[in-house]
Amino acid sequence: MLTRVKSAVASFMGGVMAAGGHSGGGGGSELPLRFPYMRPEFLGLSADEIECSADHAARPILILKETKRLPWATGYAEVINAGKSALNEDQACCEVVMARRRPVSYCPPSTPSKTPTAKRRSSLPNGEGLGLRMEHGASEGLVFHYWALFDGHAGSGAAVMASRLLQHHIVCQLQAVVEVLRNPAFCPPTVLGEEPDDHPHLQGATPPGPHRAALTRAASLRGSGGAPGSPCGTPPPPRFFMEKRVQHESLVIGAIENAFKEMDAQIEREKQVYNITGGCTALTVVYLLGKLYVGNAGDSRSIIIRNSEIIPMSAEFTPESERQRLQFLGFMQPHLLGNEFTHLEFPRRVQRKEVGKRMLYRDFTMSGWAYKTVEDEDLKFPLIFGEGKKARVLATIGVTRGLGDHDLKVHDSNIYIKPFMSCCPEVKVYNLTQYEHGADDVLVMGTDGLWDVLSNQEVAEAVTSFLANCDPDDLHRYTMAAQDLVMRARGVLRDRGWRITNERLGSGDDISVFIIPLMYGNRQP
Ligand code: MG
Repeated sequence: MLTRVKSAVASFMGGVMAAGGHSGGGGGSELPLRFPYMRPEFLGLSADEIECSADHAARPILILKETKRLPWATGYAEVINAGKSALNEDQACCEVVMARRRPVSYCPPSTPSKTPTAKRRSSLPNGEGLGLRMEHGASEGLVFHYWALFDGHAGSGAAVMASRLLQHHIVCQLQAVVEVLRNPAFCPPTVLGEEPDDHPHLQGATPPGPHRAALTRAASLRGSGGAPGSPCGTPPPPRFFMEKRVQHESLVIGAIENAFKEMDAQIEREKQVYNITGGCTALTVVYLLGKLYVGNAGDSRSIIIRNSEIIPMSAEFTPESERQRLQFLGFMQPHLLGNEFTHLEFPRRVQRKEVGKRMLYRDFTMSGWAYKTVEDEDLKFPLIFGEGKKARVLATIGVTRGLGDHDLKVHDSNIYIKPFMSCCPEVKVYNLTQYEHGADDVLVMGTDGLWDVLSNQEVAEAVTSFLANCDPDDLHRYTMAAQDLVMRARGVLRDRGWRITNERLGSGDDISVFIIPLMYGNRQP
């Protein structure tokens, strides 16, 4: 066992490698590819340009062509890794999409296809100004803006597939609640199909007609101590007061969370008939009805820079940040550890000669440390081992949330990693309409290749100073700022290595960056 784990640790130190060799596609499988390897559609690269982009020696930084424009004049730049995988395993997507009103059961269980409307919106040459105007003006649905970064490992298959399809899963989930979201005066009904008049939780602006009467009735009942809807104001049994109020934004959060789950399930399902390699992290931003929803499953990161202030919009999910969840799972379902790992954490590997002695440890219930008497059981390899970027789950993987990875196993064993990998994102909300945003206020999204070498502060200073030196009316300025950021993280080739400021090592990982200006979200028609 020890030899096997040592070998696995060595193999995976630089990231999970593709089973069967080449990380870009085939992986030895006889099955057809679900999607061919690609770079983001919006870059509009030719096959030759895609090939050139994979030059590990030159590491060219790719940016949006001047003739192309993303919604809100979003900036984007990317660069391939320094050789850890043959192809760039990061992927990106940026679209303006419409969710039409439709029962959730409509959503096909497999591939959601791009609706003609979505296609039409996405192909608009310039998405600026579409936000609130289209959201409120679209009679048959809701329009949302969507940006996403995916960081693949062990192959690019899952990342490419998620970059093509995750937004459609979000559409499918939102379709079921379009009608509710379009009526901000009412709390979401607990049961869909209830008339708003009958619903006890009325709030916000008073609507006209019968809805106004219902509001008045509800308010007077509340004032008299009775429950809304109860006859003659008679206080109903206390159980009627147990219903939770659910906010509209919680419906959007729920839609994003379920979309991630459905995307992961689709990858698992379609792996039976397609070659879909590896797994990926996913970081998404949805702009809907004046709010940004940042969903994160993995170790990419997003921050808002507002008036030079940094507002973190995501937190990384790593073996260290998720230690207690992982240990609890290992404790509750020890068979997942294959009798070869222990869910307990020790400051270092326990040696046989230490059995019977007292040693520091911590369990899933603890953030601090305590001593325990070492037993034979503790000689097993720790479920979580290593520190910082070298920390691994089951000696295999350094990230604990994401999509795909259904086949990933501990090297030379039958122990699956997937049960420990969660596809659930954490979703944070930022109300764009609460603040006035200037031209230099932005949301930065980056894969870990950026954040491994630059801190939030360094990124904020770089972006702020770069934008300050640009013409505020130049819509290409955000792309140039993204290019500058990627350049700072990659560095320059010197002494056979990539170096950034202060002779620090540059990032050898794939690096992808979106810079989204926030002022467009505030613009009313
Ligand atoms: Mg990465």
